[in-house]
Amino acid sequence: MGAGFGGLAAARKLSQQKDINVTVVDKHPYQLFSPLLYQVATGGLPEDDIAYPVRAAIPGVSFRKGEVTKVNSNSNSITLADQSTIEYDQLVLATGSTGTTFGVPGVQENALQMKSILEARVIKKQLLGMYEEVEAGHKPKESLKVVVIGAGPTGVEVSGAVAELQKSMKHEFPNIYKMASVTLVEAGPRVLPMFHEKSSKHAQSELEDIGVVVKTNSAVDRMYETDVHLKGGEILSGGTLIWAAGVAAYQTWTSLGETDRSNRIKIDENLQTSAGIFVIGDGAHLQFKGNPLPMIAPVALQMGKHVAKQIMSLKNNKPLRPFKYTDKGQMATIGRRRAVVEMPGGLRMHGTIAWLTWLALHVFYLAGGRNRISVIADWMWNYIAWGVGPRRTVID
Ligand SMILES: Cc1cc2nc3c(=O)[nH]c(=O)nc-3n(C[C@H](O)[C@H](O)[C@H](O)COP(=O)(O)OP(=O)(O)OC[C@H]3O[C@@H](n4cnc5c(N)ncnc54)[C@H](O)[C@@H]3O)c2cc1C
Repeated sequence: MGAGFGGLAAARKLSQQKDINVTVVDKHPYQLFSPLLYQVATGGLPEDDIAYPVRAAIPGVSFRKGEVTKVNSNSNSITLADQSTIEYDQLVLATGSTGTTFGVPGVQENALQMKSILEARVIKKQLLGMYEEVEAGHKPKESLKVVVIGAGPTGVEVSGAVAELQKSMKHEFPNIYKMASVTLVEAGPRVLPMFHEKSSKHAQSELEDIGVVVKTNSAVDRMYETDVHLKGGEILSGGTLIWAAGVAAYQTWTSLGETDRSNRIKIDENLQTSAGIFVIGDGAHLQFKGNPLPMIAPVALQMGKHVAKQIMSLKNNKPLRPFKYTDKGQMATIGRRRAVVEMPGGLRMHGTIAWLTWLALHVFYLAGGRNRISVIADWMWNYIAWGVGPRRTVID
């Protein structure tokens, strides 16, 4: 279930076994490379650069497009939205996560989230469309202000990219571009809270350098159509409000086992629930060095590969092996040419070298040669011409 980072890694490895039949089910016929969604949302990349056809990714594996609505563990089958069922001997739940509002009033109705291509498309349309609206006098100039909530890697990356987009608009909208701004709001005391304090400090000063207003210790109390009310009483206005403050696993699967606050199913070291279902990636809660593993792609990829080995062991009547996570570090980019990278063992980088590392890794992990070439070409164009050459547009 799920053709994301974890599901595809598992399916790809299992497909090498002649005597194992693998069926992959996903509601979308493509794998989404979420780490680059913010580039689609800010007009840096076209959407199909970050989506790869599942059937092409796993040739020879049976793929079914459909939404799974139920797991019937008693009969070893799953039910799809069209009421069809698929039987299984082993089930791998790899359905990922979705955006969560943490129950903050007004977020669901008024903020834009960025978990899917569709949502990234809506953000791009709003960001770019607002310039035409303001130029035509249909909206006030304040509508060019953008507020991003949540200063984790996604919030940092999107606010950096928005700041650069706004700067590049001076050629197209010389009369109004100066009214645009981007404010990044964070409830905690620093941006990138999961990074080392020095990286956080560095990221904040880089963000401020490119024009992002950073507000830490600022929890959101409530949101309205064009206003963000902070707990201290301050009100931030903007035409585009982006919620990048959190993700949670899907509520649908919480009945399959004990879950944590983020709906993640608690699994044992073999990556199984007590009922023997494998759960991997963002939907899984597994303790590592005293904390649950983070909801990031390397965790899903490594779990996917491991679960394939577990299924082969079961097939060959061999014992299951505990999953061991290899920490590969973390990174976040702050506009073009700036990033922070933390490697295991304490090595930290920032600036151009970190950005080049970020660039290389993202191209490496992107699915499909065509997408890689296309992204490299797009980035080269953006790098050379952004600010003087045209950015991507919105097609209604
Ligand atoms: C904006 C954004 C930026 C990110 N940036 C980074 C980053 O820079 N680095 C990093 O490591 N991680 C990043 N992540 C996190 C990373 O994308 C996830 O950790 C990773 O995708 C998890 O893999 P997964 O296999 O668990 O789920 P996913 O890759 O999300 O795959 C889940 C799949 O399940 C499918 N699915 C869900 N429900 C159903 C259903 N009921 N029926 C059928 N199919 C279903 C979905 O369509 C999807 O294809 C980012 C995430 C987002 C949203």
